[in-house]
Amino acid sequence: MNEPLTDFAQESNRAAFGEAIRRTKSSLPKEVPLIIGTKRLHLARRLTRKNPSHLSEIVGHISLADPSHAEEALAQAEAAAGSWCRLSIPARAEIFQRAAALMRKRRFELAAWEVLEVGKSWMEADADVAEAIDTLTYYPQEILRWTQQTLVGQVPGEKNIYQHEPLGPGVVISPWNFPLAILTGMTTAALVAGNTAVLKPAEQSSIVGLHLAEILLEAGVPPGVVHFLPGIGAEVGETLVRSPRVHWIAFTGSKVVGLRILRLAAEPTEGQRHLKRVIAEMGGKNGIIVDEDADLDEAVIGTAVSAFGYQGQKCSACSRVIVLESIADRFLKRLVETTRSLPIGPAEEPGTVIGPLVDEEAFGRVRKAIEEGKRVGRLLFQGQVPDSLDGTFVGPVIFTEVPRDSFLAQEEIFGPVLAVLTARSFEEALAIANGVPYALTGGLYSRHLSHIEQAQQEFQVGNLYINRKITGAVVGRQPFGGLRLSGTGHKAGGPDYLLQFLQARTITENTLRHGFAPLEE
Ligand code: NAD
Repeated sequence: MNEPLTDFAQESNRAAFGEAIRRTKSSLPKEVPLIIGTKRLHLARRLTRKNPSHLSEIVGHISLADPSHAEEALAQAEAAAGSWCRLSIPARAEIFQRAAALMRKRRFELAAWEVLEVGKSWMEADADVAEAIDTLTYYPQEILRWTQQTLVGQVPGEKNIYQHEPLGPGVVISPWNFPLAILTGMTTAALVAGNTAVLKPAEQSSIVGLHLAEILLEAGVPPGVVHFLPGIGAEVGETLVRSPRVHWIAFTGSKVVGLRILRLAAEPTEGQRHLKRVIAEMGGKNGIIVDEDADLDEAVIGTAVSAFGYQGQKCSACSRVIVLESIADRFLKRLVETTRSLPIGPAEEPGTVIGPLVDEEAFGRVRKAIEEGKRVGRLLFQGQVPDSLDGTFVGPVIFTEVPRDSFLAQEEIFGPVLAVLTARSFEEALAIANGVPYALTGGLYSRHLSHIEQAQQEFQVGNLYINRKITGAVVGRQPFGGLRLSGTGHKAGGPDYLLQFLQARTITENTLRHGFAPLEE
């Protein structure tokens, strides 16, 4: 049973959420310490985090861990590994049930932090917290399947035991775009499987990350088992990845950083007597095919929501729409009008659909991509940002006449930028859809049964959605993760996910008795 989303049509929910935002705002700025074991460390070296909807508002000061903190946290995680993995599975699972209950109780407060720290709209923030709660209930149920000892291949005179065990201490490195759900999911899976972990949240979402660490500790995770190390990815993140104490790395983020982590982790460092397991979930260049007989009412809304929800800053976002030529004009006219109707404003306003980009760096990068895009394709639509706004806002953009090999059609921009490509046939549309190095999500709007079947066979993506939006995977219902350069492929929120945090051992015993043990020689 998944955590229900909040119904904002109810006046009482709107009032409570608005109040949570007001209360959170009045508590700013938040001081974010490191948590190593039982110590909370407030450091002089800090990062200032601004509200992306109002750049003059400081939401927090983030203490920045250095390499010595990484070593200290990992040494404690190593020391705690033995006792944590010996705790019974039901006792471990109970801790996460308690954490889920704490999150439910603080649901609006946590979502309010997401609105202020990373610019999520009310509904997007609420959905992220609901997903985080789902992971806290799903993985503790799933672990029961993997921790039973199984007897395999039995023959007379031989006993074969097959069992799964944790890997040991490891590192969780998370992105900012689903600030609670992804960090909670990777951490819960690792811990419930019996590993210990150091959490390295994204620089942009360390406040939300701190709340998770505090909730886990309050729920009863022993202090040595989980540590919280905010800091700069290229500094403390990389130190953690390189450490010989680390047995596994659960990473979600960009392709560039994911590939670097895979390379670094492949090389054993001095004193390392094991190979590191790397789980790397990375970016996408996701396409939706709109077929000739698609229901355009559905296709237009589904494309707009997938492309511009959370300003296109989702790994699953649609950044290419591949339209059959015969319906392209009709589809685009309606897509433009729908996009024009999306309100742009501060994330804390309940009516906002398009909020700010996560920070000034993203703002500069996406605006540059749009300017370069104007030289590559034809600008069909660009949403105007009201002058009164003082945040990192970029209106939604649609480009047509986009060359298939251009950066607009091939590279992840991670902003509200949609490239339109046209195809003369369904086969050509599929070839365009598959013609990128990524393979995370993809979609098809069609009423043609044979095309739906063909897409199921040939559309090479980790998550294919038919006649619906391509974002918003639900834990347990749509296990999520990419193929090719989008990731290592084991799906989060799915039945195989926990296996990556476990290693299997086979124990074979010859049970035939050969004589008797002599009492004395
Ligand atoms: P990012 O790669 O810049 O950062 C991710 C994390 O890695 C952060 O915590 C960062 O501090 C850390 N990091 C950066 N450099 C590092 C290094 N050298 N060593 C170790 N750690 C380092 O990504 P982001 O901007 O936070 O997130 C956006 C990206 O994440 C997009 O590409 C998006 O598609 C991807 N993403 C993928 C999924 C998925 O499930 N496939 C989900 C969400 C986001």
